[in-house]
Amino acid sequence: MSPVITLRPAEATGCAQAPVLRERGQREVFCGLTGIVWLHRKIQDAFFLVVGSRTCAHLLQSAAGVMIFAEPRFATAIIDERDLAGLADAHEELDRVVTRLLTRRGDIRTLFLVGSCPSEVIKLDLARAAQRLSQRFAPQVRVLNYSGSGIETTFTQGEDACLATLVPELPAQAPGAEPSLLVVGALADVVEDQFARLFAAIGVPSVHFLPARRSDSMPAVGPGTRFLLAQPFLADTARALIGRGAQRVAAPFPLGEEGTTAWLHAGAAAMGLAADRVESAVAAPRARTRLALERLKPALAGKRIFFFPDSQLEVPIARFLARELGMRLTEVGTPYLHREHLAEELAWLPASTRLSEGQDVERQLDRCRTLEPDLVVCGLGLANPLEAQGLTTKWAIELVFTPIHGYEQAADLAELFARPLRRRKLIAA
Ligand code: SF4
Repeated sequence: MSPVITLRPAEATGCAQAPVLRERGQREVFCGLTGIVWLHRKIQDAFFLVVGSRTCAHLLQSAAGVMIFAEPRFATAIIDERDLAGLADAHEELDRVVTRLLTRRGDIRTLFLVGSCPSEVIKLDLARAAQRLSQRFAPQVRVLNYSGSGIETTFTQGEDACLATLVPELPAQAPGAEPSLLVVGALADVVEDQFARLFAAIGVPSVHFLPARRSDSMPAVGPGTRFLLAQPFLADTARALIGRGAQRVAAPFPLGEEGTTAWLHAGAAAMGLAADRVESAVAAPRARTRLALERLKPALAGKRIFFFPDSQLEVPIARFLARELGMRLTEVGTPYLHREHLAEELAWLPASTRLSEGQDVERQLDRCRTLEPDLVVCGLGLANPLEAQGLTTKWAIELVFTPIHGYEQAADLAELFARPLRRRKLIAA
């Protein structure tokens, strides 16, 4: 059986065969620890313990905010000079920190030990620590580990690493179980609820989400599982699911009216349901979305946009902005271009789009300045200097902190790009 179900073969058009400019130079991206900001809100009985430095702690606290009144569900166990010099047994210290944490916080069911650059530099074996601590605290708490280090990654890979480490822990489907649909990728609860309602209206009998909101309701997986990726940055998670016998359903991503409709169609067809059931279930939200996007189109149509590689969401978002809002794509950069997972998206991109993968920030800055786009999507570190040079920017990280998937959020997604253009117009007036 093929691990991929292709229901809507990608047309051999657009950028499906386009050349890609590959760059391997200096990069300007956040590390995978950033994913904790949205993952700790999603898995409500999990705790993320970063084993890292004060820099890691600062990154997390400034990105997620310091919770003074609430019990936080993330923290950093600081590796100090004694650990770095090999004077202290880091494993003993970690056991002590974890024991104190789990004794005080009876609500924790999954503890993620999250590796960082410093823990990798001193070669702290967190997999061994997780195994040891899991045995000690089972069955109440499961201890898992993944790396959020920024040495070789970009920030959305933190979610991929976290979900990939969950996959071997998922229960096995009962033998002969009916096929079920699994949506993979952390979605805001409001978006997850909308998708669950839409699949129910279409008639899909059994839909689950990974990650689930609670550790004891993680979905079962097996050869009956058909999974739809909700995010384009989940390569390791997809591989792990296929390793458990699940089949990936090829589809564009559920961004914008067009992407959401095609994604729902692919999910329904994989479950053996006819297209007309989808059409009638989505008619009303589709019409609402089209109307809402029409209102925003005048602000965006014809505007030239440039993407620095950052979130890995660049290709589907560029497709949405070009096809549904008439924006013109100058360069679409992405940290990694997963041709298989992005096949349907690439086929939908205008053929003239310049694609780049990886980063060489100085060269990309030169190209950006030469092209003088109306809007630049980039990381926080590049935004201020570019604004100072007269360019209008949008922070890529907002695309993962804001609910943007599905019909009801399509206008909010478009608004994220319309707002900075409006602001620039007001400043210039
Ligand atoms: S994991 Fe590495 S890149 Fe991320 S905050 Fe810590 S030291 Fe910096």
